[in-house]
Amino acid sequence: MNVSELVLERSDTIPDFPKPGIVFRDLTPVFADADAFAAVIDDLAARFSGRFDAVAGVEARGFLLAAALAYAAHKPLVAVRKGGKLPGDVLSEDYALEYGSATLEIKPGQLAAGSRVLVLDDVLATGGSCSAAARLIERAGYSVAGMGLVLELEGLGARDKLAGYDVYAIVAEP
Ligand code: 5GP
Repeated sequence: MNVSELVLERSDTIPDFPKPGIVFRDLTPVFADADAFAAVIDDLAARFSGRFDAVAGVEARGFLLAAALAYAAHKPLVAVRKGGKLPGDVLSEDYALEYGSATLEIKPGQLAAGSRVLVLDDVLATGGSCSAAARLIERAGYSVAGMGLVLELEGLGARDKLAGYDVYAIVAEP
């Protein structure tokens, strides 16, 4: 099986999670399969090879990808955390959710100025999280090398929101 077949084979679909009407794509079985997880990390590393100086993981499942890829590629890692979790000076970006809003934050000054930072997360839906992560990276004085996802849920507007960025998802679902 190739990497996209592995992701499709291992992932689950959970209706009515986290609330009624939402169909949740669960990638935890992909992480729980050593071959599938290694294939995912290798694929993302190959896709962006030579194009990034650091990785940024979006809390929380993006951390799993970012940690493995940072180790595999021997690159530094920054955590893009949910609001209120990071101590000291932070940069903060609010973004809209279907109901309400969310906040992501990073600590500036942890990478060399101008570093090309690869944003990693498990699922791309509306693109709000990746877009906020990109704004944080740019405000910190870095550039966005691209965005690497395991699964893209198409038709929710992410591609419009992320126009101009190199967005790659291993699997895209209509
Ligand atoms: P977006 O900001 O693109 O609308 O949503 C993406 C964020 O929400 C990601 O951090 C992702 O982990 C989470 N997310 C949204 N929908 C799903 C889903 O169906 N499955 C999983 N695993 N995460 C989701």
